[in-house]
Amino acid sequence: QWVYVNGEYVLKDDAKVSVYDHGFLYGDGVFEGIRVYNGNVYRLDEHLQRLYESAQSIMLNIPHTKEELTNIIVETLQKNQYRDAYIRLVVSRGKGNLGLDPFTCGKPGVIVITEQLALFPKKLYETGLEIITVASRRNRPDVLSPKVKSLNYLNNILVKIEASLAGVSEALMLNDQGYVAEGSADNVFIVKGNTIKTPPGYLGALEGITRNAIVEIANELGYKMVEEPFTRHDVYVADEVFLTGTAAEVIAVVKVDGRVIGNGAPGEHTNKLLEAFRKKVVEEGVK
Ligand code: PLP
Repeated sequence: QWVYVNGEYVLKDDAKVSVYDHGFLYGDGVFEGIRVYNGNVYRLDEHLQRLYESAQSIMLNIPHTKEELTNIIVETLQKNQYRDAYIRLVVSRGKGNLGLDPFTCGKPGVIVITEQLALFPKKLYETGLEIITVASRRNRPDVLSPKVKSLNYLNNILVKIEASLAGVSEALMLNDQGYVAEGSADNVFIVKGNTIKTPPGYLGALEGITRNAIVEIANELGYKMVEEPFTRHDVYVADEVFLTGTAAEVIAVVKVDGRVIGNGAPGEHTNKLLEAFRKKVVEEGVK
């Protein structure tokens, strides 16, 4: 399995970066997780746009044009002969001295890893997830914007730890005001009647590419799709709850903090949206 590391293609076990890379020392860098469906890199333009905006926000100069990054991704996929895959694209601050100062760093590091990754076991798509809400809070948007998909994922990791300790596979983070923000690496939606809600970006969630695709699909299917704040109470009393993300796609949530959601099984609207999403990812690749 080939990995792209700073200008070279190397085998997985030989893929190494410097211990002086500030991506490693401080989580100083940005990244994207991208899916490939049947040979088509799904919404690559949107992922690259988000990557460049994340980098711009933290004053990191990506040492490639979007076209060059696209070529690197395509070549990595070709070398691995993958038509369906998950891509991890990382741009780190690069090698510097031990201090925090990013201006001591040389050229930013660029890494592309491709794998055949499945986030949740297939069975969980049939049964739905049990999740909890946790004490970890999303960064306030006025500090480090949650729109920056940075390598600093400690909040999210604390969420995963809390979830694992509670014996569940995922959890929801609230923002500093107690509104529901998102999961550890996925966005959240609730369904009540014909209305579907997801938290607006300003509450402190990443603007997920899958989230945006689901908003489009929900509108196309005639749902009343709204982006507005909601609390844990609204989640508990929803007819359906689901999470979206590049790796997870769309996955139903059937229990939150011990409260059974709907009838305790993935709901018809969630299934309908997942089906439409899977259809759309293939169609977008064909055109
Ligand atoms: N929220 C966070 C914190 C994430 O890391 C991700 C994953 O990338 C998402 C949401 C979902 O975003 P996307 O659909 O672009 O993968």
